[in-house]
Amino acid sequence: MKKEYYRQLPKVDELLENDVVQVLIETYTRRLVLLIINETLDHIRKQIGQLQENETLDIRVSSIIQQVEQGVKMRHAFKLRRVINGTGVVVHTNLGRSSLSPSIAEHLVEVAMHYSTLEFNIENGKRGSRYSHIESILCELTGAEAAMVVNNNAAAVMLVLNTMAAGKEVIVSRGQLVEIGGSFRIPEVMKLSGAKLVEVGATNKTHLRDYASHITEETALLLKVHTSNFKVLGFTQEVSSADLCTLAHGLDLPVYDDLGSGMLIDLSKYGLMKEPTVQECIADGIDIVTFSGDKMLGGPQAGIIVGKKEYIERMKKNQLTRALRVDKMTLTALEATLRFYRDELQALKEIPTLHMLTKSYESISEEAALFTTKLGILDQINYRLDDEYSEVGGGSMPLEKLLSKVFVFNHQKISADGIIRYLRAYNPPIIGRIKEEEVLLDFRTLNIEEQQIVLEAILLLDKQ
Ligand SMILES: *Cc1c(COP(=O)(O)O)cnc(C)c1O
Repeated sequence: MKKEYYRQLPKVDELLENDVVQVLIETYTRRLVLLIINETLDHIRKQIGQLQENETLDIRVSSIIQQVEQGVKMRHAFKLRRVINGTGVVVHTNLGRSSLSPSIAEHLVEVAMHYSTLEFNIENGKRGSRYSHIESILCELTGAEAAMVVNNNAAAVMLVLNTMAAGKEVIVSRGQLVEIGGSFRIPEVMKLSGAKLVEVGATNKTHLRDYASHITEETALLLKVHTSNFKVLGFTQEVSSADLCTLAHGLDLPVYDDLGSGMLIDLSKYGLMKEPTVQECIADGIDIVTFSGDKMLGGPQAGIIVGKKEYIERMKKNQLTRALRVDKMTLTALEATLRFYRDELQALKEIPTLHMLTKSYESISEEAALFTTKLGILDQINYRLDDEYSEVGGGSMPLEKLLSKVFVFNHQKISADGIIRYLRAYNPPIIGRIKEEEVLLDFRTLNIEEQQIVLEAILLLDKQ
């Protein structure tokens, strides 16, 4: 029986002559179509090999051609593309962390599609610096003397430690030796940078005297690390930035704070947890501050370094900077994002990450109610609206719970897993989550346009 299947399998040449395949070749190249034909036939041979008694397999030419067509289209489709985030996790690392404001799209495309002032000083016609575009606005917004930008915050940490402390010692509190996202560990980064880690204090408590008693001739830097993704609760003590600066500056030592998320707006005004802003760190006297461009700042992936001019100048001259440098797309998106911060209300409105984080429960509920009104009564889908908590995500504010509204539903014929798969296969893919055999979509991370797409996807699913 299996032999018969193998014998009936069409030859590659035969498939290549098929009219449908000919059209595919014209559109997608012979190379790609041939590759997929071979893969499809290999796959079918494997299926034949695994056939049990009484099982059958459709190996008609028409069915194989259909598989090839699907395969070619799938292979040619973009792999990195937009999705709709229904998870309620705002800074979702797996889904690209922050999305940019639609209002900067035109400018971004213009710079990308043309020559630009990247390293050209338009005033004197001489060679310029790619950092100059972003430096003045960063200084204006944070109160720092100087600023620069590298590829991401991990690169910024590496550059600061290497520039300031290679071959020397860096003092860090034991309570701040964090691992972020499973791959970024302060002790490892420290080792790679050539600096030597000196741990002081205990995990839950570190006093100023712990830092003071470990300062030696070899000390180059006092480091503070924002414990982004965990909180030590209960009986805890950290040294304040101001106290640390008084101690360090008295001994001519700089203090560096790796803020991680780095915010320019105090979101406690909008009901979120109080976190130090970059401006506050600078005002406290911190000499160097680093933070991510795409966490709570809501811009492109980047590592931002602000601080005293003498230190930033040294970093710009470090050879590592050449290897960590940002491209023009990043710089353009970052400058455009930072410009919104001149007006706090505009930043909250225009920067999607900030908009989603500060969206009120009331306005989310209103959108959710309108959504269900439009949906009406369905045949096979049962749904309701529930209160749930969204998360900040990105390892930021781990304890913050943002009250939100979620669309909760199930289908008479399709399991929760099946629904999740259907949503993922939708164009654009919709990402939700399962809770107790029901599918949840959080309105906090869905804008109005996305809610409309979700609505259409749900209506279509109801007919299946
Ligand atoms: C996230 C984070 C980093 C790494 O930043 P990336 O932008 O992901 O490279 C470093 N330090 C802290 C404290 C962080 O929270």
